[in-house]
Amino acid sequence: MNQPTTASTKILLLEDSKEFALLLTHWLQLANYQFDHAQDLAQAERLLELGSYDILLSDIELPTGLGFEFVEKARQKMPHLAVVMMTSQQRADYAVQALRLKANDFLFKPFKQEELMAKLAGLVEQQRSIGQSILAIGAHPDDVELGCAGSLAAHVARGDRVHILTLCGGEAGGAASMRANESKSAAALLGAGLTLADLADTQISEGAQTIGVIERCIAQIQPQIIYTHSEKDGHQDHRNTFRATLVAARQVPSLFCYQAPSTTVQFIPTRFNDIGAHLGAKQRAVAAYASQASIRPYMQAELIEATARYWGRFAGYGLCEAFEVIRERSR
Ligand SMILES: [Zn+2]
Repeated sequence: MNQPTTASTKILLLEDSKEFALLLTHWLQLANYQFDHAQDLAQAERLLELGSYDILLSDIELPTGLGFEFVEKARQKMPHLAVVMMTSQQRADYAVQALRLKANDFLFKPFKQEELMAKLAGLVEQQRSIGQSILAIGAHPDDVELGCAGSLAAHVARGDRVHILTLCGGEAGGAASMRANESKSAAALLGAGLTLADLADTQISEGAQTIGVIERCIAQIQPQIIYTHSEKDGHQDHRNTFRATLVAARQVPSLFCYQAPSTTVQFIPTRFNDIGAHLGAKQRAVAAYASQASIRPYMQAELIEATARYWGRFAGYGLCEAFEVIRERSR
């Protein structure tokens, strides 16, 4: 059971019985899984705030409530969390609840080591097949869509999980509430998750505050690939977003920089993603920012297509998005 694949899987064990927890942690250690153990719901919630998990292994009957309550909270933070519920009672209402919460599996206590290991191995395999986790970071609403929405749509089509982090509400360019709604529509059109942070527009720093916001999102999303601004950019928010990302994403395998309307002629991409099948998705995502469309010439659908066509000349004359590569590592 000492397979290297299990070491990259992180499990949250929620079990109040000391003796049973001791046995389970022993089994998990033997199989080389990374795990944290919480004895009650409050402790589990604290761990959830700090970290990210692949699998939740939870008892149903806990001193202050049912494990189901925690499953709902954990799934809000980590939609792809696999869940195994443990119980010593065969109750119909438990089965209904588990079904409603889409728990992946049930274990009736007492169970054998092999039974648990087989279930966990199945879930690890299943999680690997759901593709990569992708994070796209932009300083303002619409930066990510203009820079890499075609590539993000391609990721979603491949079965990857895509999340967008926008660092400020864009209040300098229009009402933040309206721009927030537009961001939500654009993310929904792309099939991406969205985090809207509340840094100050035009004053995004490259320092601790911005790094902290990005680090928290990375801890939640656990991306293999990050798309962000280029440093070759005339807008200070964009440059600082790049610099803060460089620090926050130091452990992320691949880091690519997209083009913005304010990137300078020093932007020299070496990666060209074909977005021929996703140009329409990109144009629709950008068009979701209706409050900006009339005042920003760079949001015109024709220009988006012309830009993709221009970059296509470096990659077989398709329609492309262009990226500077900070680093690229395969899975
Ligand atoms: Zn911007």
